[in-house]
Amino acid sequence: MKQSEVLKPGQFTIVSELPKCDFSDGVAVICKPAKFDSVCNINMRSWANMCSAHYSEYGIGKLGVGYGQKLLTDNQLEELYVNEILPFDKRSLKEIWDDSLRE
Ligand SMILES: [Zn+2]
Repeated sequence: MKQSEVLKPGQFTIVSELPKCDFSDGVAVICKPAKFDSVCNINMRSWANMCSAHYSEYGIGKLGVGYGQKLLTDNQLEELYVNEILPFDKRSLKEIWDDSLRE
């Protein structure tokens, strides 16, 4: 795993369930669940939930406060914590989460 792939507080947010992609109309365009809540590159003031495909098209390629967050469910966070955050961050999950809200 590359260091650049490690998510820092402010770059992710926890959701109970992944929302639907805002670019999906459920008919002509059917997407996988959204993985990002991000600023759109077509209008820097509008935000959208985006699946990976639409994120690569409409995201701004940057995560963080004011740019976008990766959406994670509790289960994914646990996995992420064990695999990605834990080796670099010795704080508890709750501290990381509290920090991400504060920033
Ligand atoms: Zn999509």
